[in-house]
Amino acid sequence: KSAGFPLLKRIEEFDFEFQPSIDQTVIKDLATLRFIDNGENVVFLGPPGVGKTHLAIGLGVSAIEQGIPVLFINASVLIEQLKEAYHSDQLDRYLKKLTRPGLLIIDEIGYLPFDAQAAYCFFQLISRRYEHGSTIFTSNKSFGNWGEIFQDQVIAAALLDRILHHCRTVNIRGESYRMKDRKSHKLWV
Ligand code: ADP
Ligand code: MG
Repeated sequence: KSAGFPLLKRIEEFDFEFQPSIDQTVIKDLATLRFIDNGENVVFLGPPGVGKTHLAIGLGVSAIEQGIPVLFINASVLIEQLKEAYHSDQLDRYLKKLTRPGLLIIDEIGYLPFDAQAAYCFFQLISRRYEHGSTIFTSNKSFGNWGEIFQDQVIAAALLDRILHHCRTVNIRGESYRMKDRKSHKLWV
């Protein structure tokens, strides 16, 4: 709870048959949490509802159970808090707080753009975590479109260079789980 999860999800609750584009062995391997020992990042990419946040929280819950400090933060909240910290001369302090946990989860990168100031602060964060601790990212935008998110191709390239250096990317292509029940009620006829 103190890790900031919006709700509790477990890897064991995930229905892999519903989402065949996910290689179950990759998720099982991530669930061993060796990626945290190795300081690797994980990126879940895909459209809304395919289970990105569920899997990210599931790995976070496993990490907590192993005694690894975890912090979960939504990207739009992160943008706000980075800017607030910057303006009140607390950026260094806030970045330290975000660098400490063995696992940081940044959810929903790409729904809101980062302005120049937020992109600068975010770059500081990624630089500090680089080869220091693992970060899980989820995004609805493929890496080729991260330039749009940060509104700066150079910053986006520098960020991706660090994030992807030691990284496992899970591309999810499939239907939204949220539509599963609605479909059976034929709302779309
Ligand atoms: P995303 O973050 O990709 O938008 P979520 O992880 O929030 O999607 O998933 C939406 C909802 O559907 C959540 O309640 C999640 O637990 C559930 N869900 C998604 N995919 C699956 C799945 N394959 N098996 C079980 N529940 C799933
Ligand atoms: Mg999500």
